[in-house]
Amino acid sequence: IERELKQRQNFFLESTSEPVWQFEDFPWSSEVRMKLIEVFKMKRFRPKQIETINATLSNRDVILIMSTGGGKSLCYQLPALISKGITLVVSPLISLMNDQVLGLKKFGIQAAAMNSESSKETIYSVKRAMEEGNGTIKLVYVTPEKISKSKRFKAQLEKCYKCGNLSRIVIDEVHCASQWGNDFRPDYKILSILKRQFPNTPILGLTATSTEKVTVDTKDILNIPFAIVFRTPLNRPNLFYDVRIKPSSHKDLIEDILNLILNCFEKKPGIIYCFSRKDTEEVSKSLSEYGIKSAPYHAYLTTESKTQVHNAWIENKLQVICATVAFGMGIDKPDVRFVIHHSLSKSVENYYQESGRAGRDGLPALCLLYFGFTDIFRQSSMVLTERTGLDNLQRMVEYSQDLSGCRRNLIASYFQETWESLSCNEMCDVCAGITTAKIRDVTVPCRALLHTVQSAEAKGEGNRLTGLKLVDCAAGRGKSKTDCEALKNMGTEQVQRLIVHMLSKEYLREDFHFTPYRTISYITPGPQSELLAETTVQLLMPTTRIKQNDDIYKRALSPSKFIETETPGTSTNSFKRPTRVARPVKTEHDE
Ligand code: ADP
Ligand code: MG
Ligand code: ZN
Repeated sequence: IERELKQRQNFFLESTSEPVWQFEDFPWSSEVRMKLIEVFKMKRFRPKQIETINATLSNRDVILIMSTGGGKSLCYQLPALISKGITLVVSPLISLMNDQVLGLKKFGIQAAAMNSESSKETIYSVKRAMEEGNGTIKLVYVTPEKISKSKRFKAQLEKCYKCGNLSRIVIDEVHCASQWGNDFRPDYKILSILKRQFPNTPILGLTATSTEKVTVDTKDILNIPFAIVFRTPLNRPNLFYDVRIKPSSHKDLIEDILNLILNCFEKKPGIIYCFSRKDTEEVSKSLSEYGIKSAPYHAYLTTESKTQVHNAWIENKLQVICATVAFGMGIDKPDVRFVIHHSLSKSVENYYQESGRAGRDGLPALCLLYFGFTDIFRQSSMVLTERTGLDNLQRMVEYSQDLSGCRRNLIASYFQETWESLSCNEMCDVCAGITTAKIRDVTVPCRALLHTVQSAEAKGEGNRLTGLKLVDCAAGRGKSKTDCEALKNMGTEQVQRLIVHMLSKEYLREDFHFTPYRTISYITPGPQSELLAETTVQLLMPTTRIKQNDDIYKRALSPSKFIETETPGTSTNSFKRPTRVARPVKTEHDE
């Protein structure tokens, strides 16, 4: 009690005007507690749930930023039960809507999804609930198109509001409204009319991840300038972030992954994110050959196969899902022990979200990214058409290539947040001392690389170099091969690092060439390339140093570092110390 009083006092000192959202002295508080236990069968609230519930029940507009699986749905499903009339839930995907409706049925809550698949009865009972206020349906799920396209539905909403039956509007995946986000959806724009048309109905926006810029933009688009923003901490202390250089052959890579799984994650569930459908199939096939139960998952599977794979994995009949990013929304498995990125994500935000599916139970889990040089160009030709696609990818590449910054700090700075430097707790390759940087003067090879690119271009269109070809030339192979000894002696990996470095400093630039079948990325001199001609210029680049130190690794991943918070009884999911992890040993230029 004393602690609570102190907490309250502190809170009041900080803000005298805002109610104390986390306390339970609102008129509805006892009912909220009761529903949590009796209807949802849950014991306690998770971080930010009670705050959100109290604020939305106070008719305030709210944006809740909470990572996937954190429990956003409860924040509107519970209030819906103690509010008069209906809660309108705008959701981007019909499949997600149907899942939600089925899930609510299990709790004995009546909900309906209004879409092309809805039955006549559903449509009728929704109409009754909305217009007459005497239905049993408490939640109505719709897509944004329904609001923009269906005149009939719009009229129904209008009537519902007039009768005082529209108690709350929830917008799921609310970041889709912002053009600055990765998942901008034009049809979310229509949602700007909601506040104008229904000024007295509070809006609750939900999202898993959002940068400051996106949040500001979202408030603006939805006309909710005074919305309260709740955000669960971005830092996930139990996740170990690691980046490795991707072995160049499929076989070596599989061996590396296999060693990792066998040594650290025997029978523990995991996800391997791949770039393409083909990659998911190849990785899964190779793992299966070694007896690891795995299956591919991608957009081309039928809905049934998707459900089947998903369920088998949830029930631990499958250990590993090799998936494209199609495997994402709606994953709810708390004990994922590793998320491996077979290839880099298209942005740091995407990486944070994808890797964040590991360790939801609070126990240690590994997020490992394999950085492959050619993957940059596969991604760049894909994201090229997105407004901020190339910039976002650039940030992702910088994250992967950074050798001196704590991975947590790098992610935090992407979200314009600061996490205390201590809070990494040696839970990343850099802080744990696995990866360290050594600065090296690369002026000579850098000029030679630029020269190689220029002379290839001078030979005419057919001689232009892709990233891969440039690496060949640097090694002294091919038509435009270099004669610079310093460059030739560098070793493939360092040359690749140098090219990436030059791209990020704009000494080089990607130039995209479109054919009817694919987009090719050529390397061409960049806007800063002339600077290299100045004789005084000196270029420094960090090079990798990897310490093979099992003790460091062991300490970093020790389960005793973590106190379990959510689900007692799952402590058998400990993180076993790796005994035989195959790390690509880097000695080449590790002088
Ligand atoms: P999100 O939409 O944020 O990704 P969900 O709302 O789907 O997450 O919730 C994820 C899982 O967490 C669900 O299985 C849900 O039942 C569970 N959950 C949510 N809140 C709580 C809670 N307070 N206690 C226990 N489980 C919870
Ligand atoms: Mg959700
Ligand atoms: Zn760190």
